[in-house]
Amino acid sequence: MAAEKIARIEALPLRYAEPNNNGKIRCVTLIRIETATGAVGWGEAITGSEDASLATKVIIDRGLAPKLIGRDPRQVEAIWTSFREATYWSGNGGIVTFALSAIDMALWDVTARLAGVPLYQLLGGKRRDRVLAASSVIFDTADLPGIGRYFADLRARGYQVLKGGWGHDLSIAFGKDARRDLEIVRTLRDAVGEDAGIVVDVAAGSNWTASHAITMARAFEPYRLYWLEDALPEGDIDGWQRLRAATATPLCTGEKGWLVQDFRRLVDSKALDVIMIDPGRAEGVTGTRKVIEMAAEARMAWNAHSWSSAINTAASLHLAAASSNVLLLELKPEPSPMQNDIVRDPIVMSEGSVAVRDGPGLGIEVDEAAVRRYLFD
Ligand SMILES: [Mg+2]
Repeated sequence: MAAEKIARIEALPLRYAEPNNNGKIRCVTLIRIETATGAVGWGEAITGSEDASLATKVIIDRGLAPKLIGRDPRQVEAIWTSFREATYWSGNGGIVTFALSAIDMALWDVTARLAGVPLYQLLGGKRRDRVLAASSVIFDTADLPGIGRYFADLRARGYQVLKGGWGHDLSIAFGKDARRDLEIVRTLRDAVGEDAGIVVDVAAGSNWTASHAITMARAFEPYRLYWLEDALPEGDIDGWQRLRAATATPLCTGEKGWLVQDFRRLVDSKALDVIMIDPGRAEGVTGTRKVIEMAAEARMAWNAHSWSSAINTAASLHLAAASSNVLLLELKPEPSPMQNDIVRDPIVMSEGSVAVRDGPGLGIEVDEAAVRRYLFD
């Protein structure tokens, strides 16, 4: 094996208006790693806000990047372990984990590119050629007939599973009013027909108790949800177990988790049907893969929650291709700068699913000039 050394690392905080959330400003932090021979890998942290994006950049620039220069990028899991151990004081399980997640993803990308193989090949191989897609949207809860029309339109475009949640106006978001929540679920079922899957996602801050979650999950049963998402805080293991015992509605959580051990508690609870996870947050491809395997052993499915940039989506797609227990991959149904502008070959749904990428690395071609148009600092 010829020598390979990391020569350059750049952390890129990006800011953009998200068309799938009424143009609200969102942020991500990308990382570009280049070796001395010119191989390039990309990674993403789903940082969300400006402050978290800039903080992640500082942690990479001042803390982790200097430790990576000169190392062989193919030592991916050795680097993951050493960085995890080295950051115990500075916030392992927080912003530092964003930095580690992005670095790990970029190291997997460059390693697979150096080998000339798609990432799934390094994760055990391809178990499927396509992954079921879900359209994933934020509700306009002020316009119930509009929600019905939009979901009927998404169904007509080919989505077989359709997810909605939260609200453009958070004060009236899904989860905040029992009567409206039930009306929304009824509207969705009417709009998409009997054969489509429906997912609803309770907004953070809705403060459901286990008792209220049980009442709502039972009320939703006639509408046969594909799953009910984030009905309770992730840490309320006792509440999840009470909810599980009281309803047939499938249950899902996980998007707020950081560390493999956070997910261990969720898997061990045996209260969930689906674990959702992002490599751009949950300790990279390395950490996410551990969680997926843990879930598979517990006969639990996982959902590629990806609602960020095409880089996190591509990494999720490779993890989905290589795993036995993936349920689906979420997509923003309307073109978005981070999904459609920063890569030359966007990941899109056709006939209800997404094709696995067979090109080297993450299998996407990043448009660097487009990336730099969204830079802020
Ligand atoms: Mg959610």
